[in-house]
Amino acid sequence: SGKHKIAVIGSGSWGSALAKIAAENAWKRHDEFHSEVRMWVREKQVNGKKLTEVINRTHLNSRYLPDIPLPRNLVATPHLKDVVKDATLIVFVTPHQFLHTVIREISAPGILTPGARAITAIKGVEVNGTDISTFASLIEAQLSIPTSALSGANIALEVAKGQFCETTIGVPGRADALLWEAVFDSPDFRVATVDDVAGVSLSGALKNIVALAAGMVDGMGMGGNTKAAILRIGLQEMRGFCLEFFAGSKAETFSNESAGIADLITTCYGGRNRKCAEEFAKTGQPFDVIEKKLLNGQKLQGTLTSEEVNRFLLARRRTKGYPLFEKVYKIAFEGMPVNELVKGL
Ligand code: NAD
Ligand code: 13P
Repeated sequence: SGKHKIAVIGSGSWGSALAKIAAENAWKRHDEFHSEVRMWVREKQVNGKKLTEVINRTHLNSRYLPDIPLPRNLVATPHLKDVVKDATLIVFVTPHQFLHTVIREISAPGILTPGARAITAIKGVEVNGTDISTFASLIEAQLSIPTSALSGANIALEVAKGQFCETTIGVPGRADALLWEAVFDSPDFRVATVDDVAGVSLSGALKNIVALAAGMVDGMGMGGNTKAAILRIGLQEMRGFCLEFFAGSKAETFSNESAGIADLITTCYGGRNRKCAEEFAKTGQPFDVIEKKLLNGQKLQGTLTSEEVNRFLLARRRTKGYPLFEKVYKIAFEGMPVNELVKGL
């Protein structure tokens, strides 16, 4: 039909919330999009029924985003190749540890539509020895399609309820900016596009490390001043890291955009990384135990990112340039007492 077709890969809380927005826009706001939007759902039994069938019959993702009505033109699909078939606009939004399997499956010949574009809303980084890359660059390199990055102050449930917020899309070019803005911008979800894919990706990944520190502060019963200091130092390290290792990225992405300062604030007050780190500081249980106990199948990204960033900084002999990141890693994984967090910062 010549219309763009949108596919969403991932159906956790953020995957479902973003798919809801894209499907509403495709249906009501833009006739350049095919009205059916497909969402990849990793099949699961929920009360003896298949999750895809539950979603398609009830238009609710009872497993990951309960009580939020999803548009009828959003179709849950269990097989990846059926999701990306004919799709020209592909949204990647799985927890970051599962992206490799997805890429492997859809990079087989004949699966992707020529000319397709991608965007990733995944928060994390990929480290290989002394190399670090964003998921946008990884997708772009492995699938040979232009890839943008979406990140912002966007707690999934609040977005899904339609509470006003902003997001940032880092784009490789003007055509991507126009298309992705049309897919996602709405009166309650305002999109700003910036010419800084790395800055948007890195701010989303690194703020999760700072959120762990913020949760530790909460768990130790410290107040607003301490948390504000953690946010300030954290923002400096996030920006410094990005400018040091990603040539061409921009300091303003961190200070001016939703992806930077605004996401840092919301995550350090209302996010899952904060919540689990508070529990860690109070109980001393390992993070994987806390994740299972508190998140009901949702995934923590900050601990993985902390481990990856630490490995990278060690390989580059640069840990000393990032004392807060280093403290979070040592407390989370090496048994350093949590009250060491702010000492010497
Ligand atoms: P989630 O934390 O709700 O995780 C659940 C999802 O993980 C489900 O789709 C489930 O099928 C999938 N999953 C579990 N095990 C799997 C496996 N072995 N293989 C493949 N998939 C598996 O997911 P989410 O909140 O949608 O997060 C996706 C990304 O979006 C993350 O990088 C996250 O940081 C980012 N993000 C989340 C939010 C939020 O508020 N939830 C906001 C902004 C960005
Ligand atoms: P958490 O994963 O810590 O809940 O953060 C969600 C988020 O990225 C908000 O923008």
